[in-house]
Amino acid sequence: VPRYHQIPFYMNQTRILLRNCGLINPEHIEEYIAREGYQALAKSLYKMSPQHVIEEIKSSGLRGRGGGGFPTGLKWELTRKNPEDPKYVVCNADEGDPGAFMDRSLIEGDPHALVEGMAIAGYAIGSKKGFIYCRAEYPLAISRLRTAIAQAKEYGLLGEKILGSDFSFDIEIKEGAGAFVCGEETALMASIEGRRGEPRPRPPFPAERGLWGKPTNINNVKSYAIVPQIILKGSEWFSSIGTEKSKGTAVFALTGKVKNTGLLEIPMGTSLGEIVFDVGGGVAKDRKFKAVQTGGPLGGCLPTESLNLPVDFDSLTAAGALMGSGGMIVVDETTCMVELARFFLQFAVAESCGQCAPCRIGGSKMLEILTRITKGQGKMEDLSMLEDIANFMKEASLCALGQGAPNPVLSTLRYFKNEYERHILDLRCSAGVCTTLAPS
Ligand code: SF4
Repeated sequence: VPRYHQIPFYMNQTRILLRNCGLINPEHIEEYIAREGYQALAKSLYKMSPQHVIEEIKSSGLRGRGGGGFPTGLKWELTRKNPEDPKYVVCNADEGDPGAFMDRSLIEGDPHALVEGMAIAGYAIGSKKGFIYCRAEYPLAISRLRTAIAQAKEYGLLGEKILGSDFSFDIEIKEGAGAFVCGEETALMASIEGRRGEPRPRPPFPAERGLWGKPTNINNVKSYAIVPQIILKGSEWFSSIGTEKSKGTAVFALTGKVKNTGLLEIPMGTSLGEIVFDVGGGVAKDRKFKAVQTGGPLGGCLPTESLNLPVDFDSLTAAGALMGSGGMIVVDETTCMVELARFFLQFAVAESCGQCAPCRIGGSKMLEILTRITKGQGKMEDLSMLEDIANFMKEASLCALGQGAPNPVLSTLRYFKNEYERHILDLRCSAGVCTTLAPS
């Protein structure tokens, strides 16, 4: 039986964030401690000032792993510099993209990395209180977090006067009810406060006015969980991995029509082709590769010509897709790209909070057009209409859901326009998926 690092799926990975997943018992704090756990917290408290911690994160080049890619150290600094008190540290664990399970797996496999990273963030920005907003559909992740928090308190690693220092920090878990829009940071904060989970305009950003109007730092699970390693091994080590503008590694949930599905971690800048073929083992059943959907329902589809594209924040955005929080779905020749775009749009329309007209009306109108096209009732004018509505939604929607919802449609129109045209002009679906049409 080969050891795990001899299995091709793992051989081609650089697992630094996922280093403990599957190797330690996540319910035993001792196993985390045995693998350098909580040493970064001790180092921060006894050898570094809060500003020094922030400088280290800034010079590491860490960018937010929730998908936004905003520099993490800068966000921490903005929150710290706000003279208002108290300050809050919030972890966004409201992962809701179809096909994405990075945050869930990381929490389930290594909950203390998140707890330690949040405690370091609390020390850096001057906060005593953290919240983890995790969707209730993740009961195992929540249970492991509860255990980790209780054990950390027992060991003096959370709570009053951590490790004998003057720093006190506690973490509370808030369970979300599964609304996708609550992954948007202003909606998430409203939900924690007990209000309806609806986005509000930004600015003010959470660093200015966050939870209960106080300065708040919000990061994704992966952003906090990598912090202990940056503090321990140094910013130079971290910034030596990845590309010039996207440092470190990226974690993806690789799913769909690929031989090896699962959670993977690769250096930023690895090509899409290496992920699909070297790590993923290529397309299942040796069918023909067609596209990869990155960034979930707010991301985009990339075609075969993009297989050499480096996977990093800026390259994916320039190609019309998104890094997102790490969903990556491979599709083959049996997938209809029009139907795929319709599927993702349907998800976004169902999850829209309905608060602003561009998203509420624009999304429904686009869905109606796409549905007609998949039924063979489309017109060529529909294609320019789709683009016009999509661009308006991107410009005028209040939050990332409405701004990103048109992306699957725009990217499939950009790379697979011929499939739309075949549906409309020839009444044919090249994948044979749209059953009211003839297969090509
Ligand atoms: Fe709600 Fe959509 Fe407007 Fe966001 S863009 S606030 S989800 S209606």
